[in-house]
Amino acid sequence: MKLPGIDIEKLKISAVTKRGTERKLARRRLAILERDGFKCVTCGKSENLTISHTVPIYGKKRNHASSFKFDECITQCSECHLKEEYNRTNLRLGHVFRWT
Ligand SMILES: [Zn+2]
Repeated sequence: MKLPGIDIEKLKISAVTKRGTERKLARRRLAILERDGFKCVTCGKSENLTISHTVPIYGKKRNHASSFKFDECITQCSECHLKEEYNRTNLRLGHVFRWT
C-alpha cells in the first residue's frame, strides 16, 4: 500500500514564497518536521511523512494553522499515522479491534 506523504521540498518553498495563513501553516509544519529530524517518531522511517496531532482535532479545524501547535504535533510516516488514526477512531467508537 502506497500512501502519500508531505512534499518537503514544496513545503520549504511554500514557507518562503506563500503569504499569510498558507505561509504560517507551511512554517509550522516545517518546524515540526525539523524538530523530529524529518523522521517518523514511531518507526524511524523518513519516507511518506505526515504530521500527526497528539491532541485529536476533528472537523474543519484540521488544516487550520492554529491546529498545528508545535507541542501538540509529531512527525509520523503515513502508515503509522493511519494506524494511529484507525485505532483512535475505533477507541472513540468503543470498538475493541486494534491494528498493530
Ligand atoms: Zn512510521
